[in-house]
Amino acid sequence: MNTLKIAIQKSGRLSEDSLKLIKECGIKFSNGKGKLKAVADNFPLEFLFLRDDDIPGYVEDGVADLGIVGENVLVEYEKNVKLVKKLGFSKCRLSIGVDRNWDYKNIKELDGKSIATSYPKILGNYLKQNNINAEIHEISGSVEIAPSIGLADAVCDIVSSGSTLLSNGLKEADVIMRSEAVLVSGNNLSAEQEKILNQLLFRMEAVQAGKNNKYILLNAPNESIDEIISLLPGMKSPTVLPLAMEGWSSLHSVVKEDEFWEVIEKLKKAGAQGILVAPIEKMIV
Ligand code: ATP
Ligand code: ZN
Repeated sequence: MNTLKIAIQKSGRLSEDSLKLIKECGIKFSNGKGKLKAVADNFPLEFLFLRDDDIPGYVEDGVADLGIVGENVLVEYEKNVKLVKKLGFSKCRLSIGVDRNWDYKNIKELDGKSIATSYPKILGNYLKQNNINAEIHEISGSVEIAPSIGLADAVCDIVSSGSTLLSNGLKEADVIMRSEAVLVSGNNLSAEQEKILNQLLFRMEAVQAGKNNKYILLNAPNESIDEIISLLPGMKSPTVLPLAMEGWSSLHSVVKEDEFWEVIEKLKKAGAQGILVAPIEKMIV
């Protein structure tokens, strides 16, 4: 079929950002509340809204061609699907949490203990690699209350700020894996479907590149231009335009978000003035 079906979490921590990314790729669709399916108006894409845990399995079976899930779920379910692209949102850790007062030094302290988790496979593999013998209690939700109700000595759960652990009297003791949302695909896409996937990836990359960069405009005296250009790697080289004021120019370029503050400081030192910074919606290199 000349269309791709993408599985997206129906409601949860991945849903909003997944749909936002689709929207930023210029793909329009209307999803009535509670609907399980939708079709894009202007791109050969259909949406299936599912529980995140079911997504790797549906993609493996070919019910969906693509899916967006957390790496943690992808690794836990061990399905035969391809990780196509890391998406940069829903970043979190899968960590060991223990009682705040436990003077925890390393994983060896879990030997002979019991650990509650919704990720028995990832935890099991981690314990095995470290030669730890611990009992795994698989529970599907509210893992963090297990120690306080006497169900387990420790937990292995998703952590981002750590506030959920903290409010349950626990602390983050060890990080087992880092995770973010990823795009996965099945292994049997037709040539036509691969083509659509590549078009989608092209758009996703333009959106991501836009987010990782800023557009920068500044004024500088002409004698500073060479030094300023050396500070602005840009896409090729900066645009330099004369200002109405004699001896001054305006420079336009692109800077990486994570180098931004450092570059700004250097630019100021080199004589740049009236620095304007604007977000980039899409960037095609
Ligand atoms: P479902 O009902 O679809 O099974 P769920 O309760 O299993 O939902 P969510 O809590 O919505 O799942 O989390 C979905 C994914 O989002 C997780 O697998 C993880 O990758 C990521 N995630 C979970 N908690 C956080 C967090 N606090 N910060 C960032 N990302 C998170
Ligand atoms: Zn889930």
